[in-house]
Amino acid sequence: MTGATRVLVLNSGSSSVKYQLIDMADGARLGSGLVERIGGGEVPDHTAALDLVAEQLAANGTGLDSPALAAVGHRVVHGGTRFTAPTLITDEVLQAVRELVPLAPLHNPANITGIETTRKLRPDLPQVAVFDTAFHATLPESAARYAIDTATADRYSVRRYGFHGTSHQYVSRRAAQLLGKSPESVNVIVLHLGNGASAAAVAGGVCVDTSMGLTPLEGLVMGTRSGDLDPAVLLHLHRVGGLSVDEIDDLLNRRSGLAGLCGDNDMREVTRRLDQGDPQAKLAFDIYVHRLRKYVGGYYAVLGRVDAVVFTAGVGENAVPVRAAAMAGLEALGIELDPARNSARSREPRLVSREGSRVAVAVVPTDEELEIARQTFSLVSDLG
Ligand code: AMP
Repeated sequence: MTGATRVLVLNSGSSSVKYQLIDMADGARLGSGLVERIGGGEVPDHTAALDLVAEQLAANGTGLDSPALAAVGHRVVHGGTRFTAPTLITDEVLQAVRELVPLAPLHNPANITGIETTRKLRPDLPQVAVFDTAFHATLPESAARYAIDTATADRYSVRRYGFHGTSHQYVSRRAAQLLGKSPESVNVIVLHLGNGASAAAVAGGVCVDTSMGLTPLEGLVMGTRSGDLDPAVLLHLHRVGGLSVDEIDDLLNRRSGLAGLCGDNDMREVTRRLDQGDPQAKLAFDIYVHRLRKYVGGYYAVLGRVDAVVFTAGVGENAVPVRAAAMAGLEALGIELDPARNSARSREPRLVSREGSRVAVAVVPTDEELEIARQTFSLVSDLG
């Protein structure tokens, strides 16, 4: 190592690139930004987008050519069963990520383009892939397998991989810290409720179950995604409704969830309408909360003992009524929310349960970029 301590975190999506530059010496954010509408007139492709990122970084004093830059950490959505930890990117790793594209056709191609472009600009700089699936690699087979014919499942890599892993990992560790305990000594249920949403059961720092599966469609009700449903719904829509595979894909991923139920995918809007007595918004809210409570109860049983239920991401960090409704009436499980604490606004990790609640309820703002930077820096530091 050269004493370089800065890590550039890149999250390349299909039409946008988000970045943050973090100095791992003190955790300082030195720059962040978003290049949108890739494919449009001004930003024709990912190369142009990364040129813009490089320009913005240079204007802030740490260009891509800066000797202070230790590595680039890339968020990669799908690591399959092969990638269970942050991985230094080589030609061979990149090829393996390409082979995973059928499992994440919307996400991995954009991640790959981001990696390829950065490697072209700085071939000498270590680049690390941090996978959204990796934290869930510890799921026992009983939680990871679907109950379908094993040979068919294996042939098509059909199993539960889980997503939002970087967030679940960061938040579960930060929650243990908030409780003043080591991650190894606590069991937590993490509820990552953003536009996408997932729950995770984490036992002593190890993830033992999560609500997303083969793809980020399974589990909780989300902004525009259905979450769990009877798989025969798809067959019915196809056979009786005549919908094509692409139409069903579009329905379940983009026209379902809160948006499908009441026309709004944003929880702020749903709760505003709810306050005005809108019955459609109320039903959407109730379905969202009902599903969430089923997962809390289910993961309580999976873990046996729960030290904390932790809310994070846009909805989890901000939606007071969602936390209140999700935790209501669970005193018999040792879960006692404190209404005043729950309503107080803050950007800090905090407890929102009553003093003496056997199970703590916490709000911990997620920070996937910091976690990616941390894992990236730790890996390149170990390389020496
Ligand atoms: P994320 O994916 O974590 O960025 O979360 C985005 C979602 O968080 C948005 O779609 C909103 O529904 C939700 N959100 C953000 N701020 C609030 C708020 N103050 N109250 C309720 N929901 C919010």
